[in-house]
Amino acid sequence: QQMGELTVNPIISDVLNLLDLTFKKSKVNYALSFNKENIQLKADSIQLTQVLFNLIMNAIYFSPPNTTITIKVKELAHEVRISISDEGPGISKVNEEKIFQPFFTTKPVGEGSGLGLSVVHGIVKSHKGQITYSQNKPKGATFVVNFPKL
Ligand code: ADP
Ligand code: MG
Repeated sequence: QQMGELTVNPIISDVLNLLDLTFKKSKVNYALSFNKENIQLKADSIQLTQVLFNLIMNAIYFSPPNTTITIKVKELAHEVRISISDEGPGISKVNEEKIFQPFFTTKPVGEGSGLGLSVVHGIVKSHKGQITYSQNKPKGATFVVNFPKL
């Protein structure tokens, strides 16, 4: 792990640019907002990129066409909070407790390894952060990741 002082804003913009064609192909939009211009965080930039990439890829996969993925980044007193919300089907109560387990997937055979969220969970834990799932209102999934600023 290569921990370093980074600015979160351009890292998120880079991930969104990388996924630009994926967004276009699935006709999904995104709305990105920050509460501050230069949000600083001590983290591994590759691992942070992987967390964002996996969560946003899932959100795109489960988003119906012509819906919006909302990404909010907030610097709080002691942590940086990133939330990613989509307007897809969300996650059923029975599956909620399984999603962070390796190899759990509801995607058709061959489409998903079920490793994405377990990798995300491991990275967030190794940064002493937290990740939580909640239902988006009125519909969809919301993942909130908290990283301590340190
Ligand atoms: P994979 O994407 O390969 O299925 P993940 O670990 O990324 O593996 O996700 C595991 C499962 O969690 C998915 O198959 C799906 O059931 C559920 N899931 C994850 N993200 C979302 C989302 N944004 N909306 C609905 N379900 C989701
Ligand atoms: Mg995935």
